[in-house]
Amino acid sequence: MLAMRLTRFIARMTNVRPARLLGAKPIASITFDDFPKSAWTVGVPLLAQYKARGTYYTAGNFCGRTVEGMEFYDDADLRALVAAGHEIGCHGFGHQPTPSLSTQTLAQDMDRNARFLAPFLNGAKLESYAAWRRAARLRAAGCAPDRRADSPLPAIT
Ligand SMILES: [Zn+2]
Repeated sequence: MLAMRLTRFIARMTNVRPARLLGAKPIASITFDDFPKSAWTVGVPLLAQYKARGTYYTAGNFCGRTVEGMEFYDDADLRALVAAGHEIGCHGFGHQPTPSLSTQTLAQDMDRNARFLAPFLNGAKLESYAAWRRAARLRAAGCAPDRRADSPLPAIT
């Protein structure tokens, strides 16, 4: 537990290079972590009221399952989400504590999730990645541990 707290502290204290967005209007990013079923059944109609779209960080291991009383998305939800123009974001397939994984295991888990999601993307690329509970070691701050922060997510084959 101390190691987890320490990695979170270090991640918060690390200097990052902010990026300025072009455009005159403020932008809000609406995201859903883990894609519980209610993010589709309740979240999408709310977003539609404001003509907004969201990003759904999806862990493949949750597809079609109920875990600890939480019902998660299924295949049909993923297809409908993409058809409605929302973004699917990459998460680890197994939704494991990111800081505790070896670099190789983290990369394999992320690649597994990318392969799982590929059939639902209609050819689009994964452009976002969320680390488990926002906990990440510095090696994962940009995305995969063996990739530069500005490089694309894993190739989907
Ligand atoms: Zn999550």
